[in-house]
Amino acid sequence: MPGFEIFGAEERKQVNDVLEMGVLMRYGFDGMRNNHWKAKEFELAFAKRMGTEYCQLVSSGTAALTVALASAGIGAGDEVIMPTFTFVASFESILALGAVPILVDIDDTLTLDPKAVEEAITPKTKCVMPVHMCGSMANLRALKVICEKHGLILLEDACQAIGGTFEGKPLGSYGDLGCFSFDYVKTITCGEGGGVITNNERYALHADHYQDHGHDHVGKDRGAETHPFLGYNFRISELNAAVGLAQLEKLDGILKMQKENYTILREALQSVEGVTFRRVPEGGEENYSFLNFFLPTEVLTQKAHKALSEAGVDACFYWYNNNWHYINGWEHLRNLKSLGNFSSEVKNQMQDLNTTDFSKSDAWMSRTISSLIKIGWTEKQVRDRAEVMKNVIASVI
Ligand SMILES: *Cc1c(COP(=O)(O)O)cnc(C)c1O
Repeated sequence: MPGFEIFGAEERKQVNDVLEMGVLMRYGFDGMRNNHWKAKEFELAFAKRMGTEYCQLVSSGTAALTVALASAGIGAGDEVIMPTFTFVASFESILALGAVPILVDIDDTLTLDPKAVEEAITPKTKCVMPVHMCGSMANLRALKVICEKHGLILLEDACQAIGGTFEGKPLGSYGDLGCFSFDYVKTITCGEGGGVITNNERYALHADHYQDHGHDHVGKDRGAETHPFLGYNFRISELNAAVGLAQLEKLDGILKMQKENYTILREALQSVEGVTFRRVPEGGEENYSFLNFFLPTEVLTQKAHKALSEAGVDACFYWYNNNWHYINGWEHLRNLKSLGNFSSEVKNQMQDLNTTDFSKSDAWMSRTISSLIKIGWTEKQVRDRAEVMKNVIASVI
């Protein structure tokens, strides 16, 4: 996920447009800004690229999830089903609204297992939140069927899979709402930033107001605007949006390079007996930001991960026990360590995460290694890396 690998003149030009006018805010100051509306421009371009009616830019991916949930009317006591393998933003955004995160198992797609989702539904369930981790997606068709059957909102976290598709649609545009992060390590970056996309006019209007203190954005006098409901401040600045505009232009080139590098690594590992790959649901195409594979046992996987690092192969991740992308690393969540009190709904409805059985997730995660795909590698560097990875893994298993 390499946006920062290609920061250059295009980004500087966009940021300079903003600096020369001095209008760092996305709203108002019409006379001073010489027609520069970087956030608005980004929103139009991003909605177009993603094939949706609406895009709302916000200050981070975590803010995008929070705004998306709030826009769909999710609040205290509503249950949101999410996976055990994700980024902490999933439960942070749910808890921020007083809603209740319900964690369920993943399968060999490394994302939500539709069967586990169906089993977790209660009368309080409002939303299913698949997280398309490490470049590939959940079985969105199966999840959509479940959501339609039970009247639930399907909210895609596509922060790590921008540009991937499912049944021909860009990830994030398949469900009711889709969220993206443009933080510094994502495929394209604003420095900090996030986005919500949707085809739902009501959710889009809610998002527009909610992320700016409930302002209705009607008319040209910000002070005179009305506030149909309470909001918050999750606004992006013009400076961040300007960086993103330049990066968005580079997205398709990045995806192409990722696919080329991914393919070289995959072809090398395919020849190693015992290596299998993460399942991509039928109808899906990855964004190729990671190559994710399984080894036969937990012990062999840990040995291989250690050997890869000793052989100088960087950016290979073993999420299972040394990283906070998996439930094993969330000691603070499992023991509900928060600065203030939780609401009674959260206290009463949350699972005991220390005793819930996630052995199905463990069975996949303990055997998973993910290699980041960089675009700065030369072809020789990728081929050398492929050769070393192949030999190291073959010698371990
Ligand atoms: C990065 C990320 C987020 C949050 O994005 P920030 O912009 O860092 O707040 C949410 N979900 C996933 C899967 C992510 O990788």
